[in-house]
Amino acid sequence: MTELEPITRAQTQSPSYVTCTDCGLAHDYRPIAVGEIALCQRCEAVLYRNRPHMVQMALALTLTGLILFILSNAFPLLGLSARGLMQEITLIGAGVAFWQQGYPVLAVLLLLTIVIFPLFELLSQLWILLSLQRHWPPEPAIFLFRWIHELKPWGMLEVFMLGMLVSVVKLGEMATLIVGPALWSFAFLILTMAVTSATLDDFSVWSQLKRCDGKNDESV
Ligand SMILES: [Zn+2]
Repeated sequence: MTELEPITRAQTQSPSYVTCTDCGLAHDYRPIAVGEIALCQRCEAVLYRNRPHMVQMALALTLTGLILFILSNAFPLLGLSARGLMQEITLIGAGVAFWQQGYPVLAVLLLLTIVIFPLFELLSQLWILLSLQRHWPPEPAIFLFRWIHELKPWGMLEVFMLGMLVSVVKLGEMATLIVGPALWSFAFLILTMAVTSATLDDFSVWSQLKRCDGKNDESV
């Protein structure tokens, strides 16, 4: 691990400095060896990493995430059996059910936060990583990477999963619940997206995108 020198006021016009997102201290950028991590000198937060094969790893995780997303939407999440009647529910079916029961705002919110935003994140990530790997023009990737950060707080997969687990416990007392294959793929999707976020270092992605854009960015 490497602790960088804080940047002085006179140096802040330099294009090669990095600001700590946790405490705001600016540091002079210094290239680091493969496998090393640059830390903030004030709060020791991670500033950037030089992770080998970052793009390839993130690409494999994103493709896995897309497959899990398709499985999560194609199969039932839960089945409920009571008095000889069997009812199954899918992710999109849950939104449709809210709409049909007179809760259009809830239905739209559910579909946006559970289906549309996570799908946008996965597809955008795929485009960004392919752009980096195949040296495509970076402008669309820069636009998408900005929007991923704007929309990330609105992705509510974990909240939805927690709500589902609570319902499983509550409804389990009243009827027989059958856990559908989509529930497992949904749980693995949350895990895969979290690992992808941890693998993709924002500073390195921005540096590589700007380098493709022809800007003189010598980072990582
Ligand atoms: Zn800091």
